Amino acid sequence: MLEKFRDILEECTECNLCFEECPISAVIKDETLGPLGKISAARTLLRGGELSDDEYKSVYLCTRCRKCEVVCPLNLPVPDLVQAIRYELAKVNREPEKHRAIAKRIVEYGNPMGQPAEARDRLVPEGMHATKGIDTVYLTGCWSGYELLDVAEATIEVMTRSGFEFSMLGSKEKCCGLFLIDNGYLDAASKRAEENVKLLEELGASTVVVSCAACYDVYNEMYPKLYREPKFKVKHMVQILKELVDSGKIKFRNENSESVVAYMDPCHLGRCGGIYGAPRTILKSIQGLELRELYNNRELASCCGSPAGVKPFAPEISNNVGLNLLKSAQDVGADALVVSCPFCLYHLQDVKNKSGVKIEIKEITQFVLEHMR
Ligand code: SF4
Ligand code: SF4
Repeated sequence: MLEKFRDILEECTECNLCFEECPISAVIKDETLGPLGKISAARTLLRGGELSDDEYKSVYLCTRCRKCEVVCPLNLPVPDLVQAIRYELAKVNREPEKHRAIAKRIVEYGNPMGQPAEARDRLVPEGMHATKGIDTVYLTGCWSGYELLDVAEATIEVMTRSGFEFSMLGSKEKCCGLFLIDNGYLDAASKRAEENVKLLEELGASTVVVSCAACYDVYNEMYPKLYREPKFKVKHMVQILKELVDSGKIKFRNENSESVVAYMDPCHLGRCGGIYGAPRTILKSIQGLELRELYNNRELASCCGSPAGVKPFAPEISNNVGLNLLKSAQDVGADALVVSCPFCLYHLQDVKNKSGVKIEIKEITQFVLEHMR
């Protein structure tokens, strides 16, 4: 798998622009652990050498947020290179033990937490389990399905109150497999892609709604590469919210709160999915609210610091990346940071609790519900 990167590695001019923009490098400030460390690791493996400790660390200090690729003058795909190196390491059981354990739980239990599948049923309102012939299915994703139940509950309430019909998979829902993809467990990821796509197609779903930015990217961009294009459309909840706001099915109260919010573009929805307008339109529709942009926004948005196994591998570094993000929202004078990914939310709330930084962090659907008429 690494072989196909041989020529690309020769193209790198070592300009280090990627290092300057990488959100993890901004915390560790060590070039040997930044994007060039990953390139160095790939070169070492390709000439049959052993990775140094720094090269190994560098490979796992990457959320695959794709910011380096965007700023690189040659658009070199460092995140794909990281995936290929991790694939080679996992093949010979040299990945971090914590990663192996998480991957095992995703394969065996259908979620990274190792929780029973049946626990997902508690969120499904009576009579709303998906059966054959359904049209729209809402997937909670793992973080809202097991840890942040209030996000899924708010999503169900918003859709129900605005007359949007849907059903849910409950215990049949399984993790999209992003962690498997990020860490090079590509056979397991392909199997998961096939399983998830077939289940939804057999039920007859024409639209699948997801809360998680990762699920959005995985179903739309990664499943076609790992398995095939699904026969159903996959929409993120921000797209549904925008449709409901545009059609007048969601109306907001007239408020004079004068609160200031900032919006964080999750990597998988923004840089990967190209969705920037919908969440901003929704937030701007709430009267009495001022939306301010973070200094790093849209294509240049900073990652929250958690994905791809960085949080279990290096919790302190991961938390400091999240802390930089929360501070950047404070810097623009925001009272609250609104996010549209429960995975980012879970991590940022943890960072807030540990650091004591004073800023509200809100998931966008919950935020909409709080302001709905
Ligand atoms: S993908 Fe993101 S975290 Fe990884 S090297 Fe590039 S900018 Fe840094
Ligand atoms: S920005 Fe691109 S060319 Fe420059 S060092 Fe990074 S990967 Fe190499």
